[in-house]
Amino acid sequence: MPAPHPDHRLVAMTDTCARSTVRAGSAVVGGDTFTLVAGACAVETPEQLGAACDAAVAAGATLLRGDLFKHRTSPYAFQGLREDGVALVAHERARAGLPWVIEVLHPDDLETVDAIADVVRVGARNMQNFELLKECARSGKPVMLKRGLSATIDEWLLAAEYVAASGSLDIILCERGIRTFETATRNTLDLSAVPVVRERSHLPVVVDPSHSTGSRALVEPMALAAVAAGADGVMLDVHPDPAGARCDGPQALLPGEAAALGAKLRGLARWTGRTVDEPVHTLDTTAA
Ligand code: PEP
Ligand code: MN
Repeated sequence: MPAPHPDHRLVAMTDTCARSTVRAGSAVVGGDTFTLVAGACAVETPEQLGAACDAAVAAGATLLRGDLFKHRTSPYAFQGLREDGVALVAHERARAGLPWVIEVLHPDDLETVDAIADVVRVGARNMQNFELLKECARSGKPVMLKRGLSATIDEWLLAAEYVAASGSLDIILCERGIRTFETATRNTLDLSAVPVVRERSHLPVVVDPSHSTGSRALVEPMALAAVAAGADGVMLDVHPDPAGARCDGPQALLPGEAAALGAKLRGLARWTGRTVDEPVHTLDTTAA
């Protein structure tokens, strides 16, 4: 394996350092823990977000997702509810009693999501938006940093180094697929990045099988493979009506699929000797 980059000063694994654990509200990511992150790709309506949260909790998620700012390839695609959705997220986050991870596209978004974000996420398209990374670090919230579409692992860890050098080591890396010549999947999920990153860095690394594959049928096999590869967590898109979704419907799991997969992922994580982050939510999942 090539030598680690010399400027991975704060994020590099060393002989003396332990694997990092990032705490976000009641959720724990890293260490020897497996953590499920799940929820909506985009916040759309109260009914959709409520159903996505119920499904995520039933699946065993301890960190919920649902974005207000969407970084879409087309300017004509749904860009998110933005400020208009803050109250909706606040309601669901309080109802579930679980922490929330949400994407920010611009430093100004940090103020918008301040009251509802337990983790701020920097998306693939912003991985090298270094001013945004610095502001996220200064927000005092943990940062989930997705791998850029064309970023090498070294570049990804250098982006994480920007966050670390700006004062925060509460960083969760997220592998979400890279651009290759292959067109059968939306992106090529680079699962080998998981053990490589875990060797080079003490930071936890989670895998997003939804955005990487772009396809519901591929989410389960790649999520299971991610756990087998040593991922510290998996992040899933769930939607009660994927065909009617305003964003990324083809990759979203139905609630029942998410629950079944969550159980398999936890089982596999335990089988591989991991502790599973257990939800301490406030929803009644027996009613569903
Ligand atoms: C997302 O997770 O909603 C997302 C936009 O992902 P990415 O930045 O990996 O494309
Ligand atoms: Mn999405």
